[in-house]
Amino acid sequence: MRKKNLILEIAVPVPLRRLFHYLPPVVGEWSQLKSGMRVRIPFRRRELIGIFMKTLHSSDQTEHKLKHAIEIIDTESLISSEVMHLCQWASDYYHAPIGEVLESALPKLLRQGKAIGEVKNSASLHTPLKCTVSLNGDQQQAVAALQAALGTFQVFLLDGVTGSGKTEVYLQAILAVLEKNQQVLVLIPEIGLTPQTIQRFRERLPCPVVALHSGLTEKKRLEAWNAARTGCARVVIGTRSAVFAPLPELGLIIVDEEHDLSFKQQEGFRYHARDLAIMRAKHNTIPIVLGSATPSLETCHNANSGKFIHLKLMDRAGGAQLPTFSLCDIRNQRLEEGLSPALFDAIRATIGRGEQAMLFLNRRGFAPVLLCHACGKIAMCGRCDTRMTYHQTQKKLQCHHCGSQKPLSKCCESCGSSELLPVGTGTQRLESALHERFPAHSIARIDRDSTQRKGEMDKLLESIQSGEHAILIGTQMIAKGHHFPNVTLVIIVDADGGFFNSDFRALERMGQLVLQVSGRAGRAEKKGTVMIQTHQPEHPLLNQLITDGYAAFAKTLLDMRQGTVLPPFSSFVLFRAEAHSQKKAKDFLEAVKTVFPHGQKSLQCFGPVSAPMPRRAGKYREQLLIQSSRRSVLQAALKEVLPAIEALKTSKTVRWSLDVDPMEMF
Ligand code: ADP
Ligand code: ZN
Ligand code: ZN
Repeated sequence: MRKKNLILEIAVPVPLRRLFHYLPPVVGEWSQLKSGMRVRIPFRRRELIGIFMKTLHSSDQTEHKLKHAIEIIDTESLISSEVMHLCQWASDYYHAPIGEVLESALPKLLRQGKAIGEVKNSASLHTPLKCTVSLNGDQQQAVAALQAALGTFQVFLLDGVTGSGKTEVYLQAILAVLEKNQQVLVLIPEIGLTPQTIQRFRERLPCPVVALHSGLTEKKRLEAWNAARTGCARVVIGTRSAVFAPLPELGLIIVDEEHDLSFKQQEGFRYHARDLAIMRAKHNTIPIVLGSATPSLETCHNANSGKFIHLKLMDRAGGAQLPTFSLCDIRNQRLEEGLSPALFDAIRATIGRGEQAMLFLNRRGFAPVLLCHACGKIAMCGRCDTRMTYHQTQKKLQCHHCGSQKPLSKCCESCGSSELLPVGTGTQRLESALHERFPAHSIARIDRDSTQRKGEMDKLLESIQSGEHAILIGTQMIAKGHHFPNVTLVIIVDADGGFFNSDFRALERMGQLVLQVSGRAGRAEKKGTVMIQTHQPEHPLLNQLITDGYAAFAKTLLDMRQGTVLPPFSSFVLFRAEAHSQKKAKDFLEAVKTVFPHGQKSLQCFGPVSAPMPRRAGKYREQLLIQSSRRSVLQAALKEVLPAIEALKTSKTVRWSLDVDPMEMF
């Protein structure tokens, strides 16, 4: 390579949808330059670390004199061509700057310029436990189908209730891939990645298994990443961002609990790890399994249309029975801290038998509202359009949206009255009410407040498993993944939230949550009962869910979505804008709206409208929804208009973002 006339094209981690041109470094060796190596560069008045893409012989970026790169950091490429392809695809589909996409494919220490280092073979070999499980018919069929698909691109939906033996199917399929000397990527939700989960895979697999998640120290994370890259690790279990893990011999991808929201990155580079995993499998010509007891409607739709192959596990494996459901009509009932008398009776009977009762309530704190009895004012957050939650143990008011706190004052801030009433029930209040009723029994509460300190969650889970507590109370942190064999009663304290939410996915989520929570009941030899408190006991969907099951419920919801042309029967893109004044945010989105091609029947703009929470952390929030019945039309339009949007003067005065396939509409 001649040094003269050569230009390096570099992806830089900045929110600009373009690549940047540099001259080669003045000193140092660079003739072995490969795509995917890190390069230190001067950028504005800083030094940044970019990723080298390719060399060019001329540059159209002549607006400034081209600068020299400072140094080439690596001697080998850190982003394989396979991962590079995935990142390029993601950058195109999500219309995200390639520099930011590549940034999320690297562990933090590498983004900071640290040397890649030697791979310590810390992932030592375990002697796996001898497998004593003999698969049932459904499981065998599923494993056979996966085995037959190795080496081809195929998407499978592995559909089975909690405890139906999905993980056993994964383990058997992984063994088949390991025999072919290939690697496996297992993606699981944030909440599901417990030490027990990793332990189970380690115990059963005759190969080094590494975990990749945000709970690791940066050093450990880099080590795990590197073990995957060099092929030392044969199985990688990780959360969302592990979809970018370097796996040179990838043979199978598994996405467990594919419906889980944590697979969607909700800020910065907004991507869906499940969807990217499917693209990765496609590019590698390998199979991918999406497992769930409650598949997302998108996935159900793809299974119904034959795009995905539907594998069903019909029964609970190992003979455990499905729980019995009952709807508890709480209309006109005298509730005590949110619980009806029938529920207190059920709890008493359960713990009287020496079994455990679990209460699910997705509201932490003591009470969601603090009301002045004299003047009726409610304690509000000063920075958000929302109420402060009353936390009794810390004697504080807390905003669950921006995190601001204030000490509880003895009197109302508007009228000075000292009669302040906590209204509604949170997990802390439920705990104290149950303490009063059942003073002789131990109660465990699992929510973000009780598990703040590192290791606290594991300790709690362990003490629950050992049967130390009679009653468990928890938010959605207890909904997934955990095995509580002695829990025979599950109570959903408030199922009504799903009916009053404005998000079109609220009912789907409610159904998924009810079944996920129910999956905690009666996993061993004892049959479980699930009691659901509601003011809408006749609600047809809730009834369909508990009598006919999730598949029927999902079918009804899909028919409704089809009737109203909502996803998956159309595609959405959401522009969000935040500013110190509402007008600024609105003006920007109005301008965005005008640059979209008009008169195109298959493209519709809705808004701008205020976000469901119009002000958050002091910023006003507006949003603009773009919908099309054809994804390709929407994609093409976005590609066309984005340069114009970036050039808008108003784009500099607001914080704005673009969310392709938004999962939450606020
Ligand atoms: P899922 O992943 O669907 O929740 P698991 O694979 O964790 O289900 O299985 C639930 C329980 O049943 C586990 O304790 C597992 O060891 C056991 N199990 C799974 N398959 C079988 C089988 N074929 N025979 C006996 N026990 C099984
Ligand atoms: Zn008052
Ligand atoms: Zn707030």
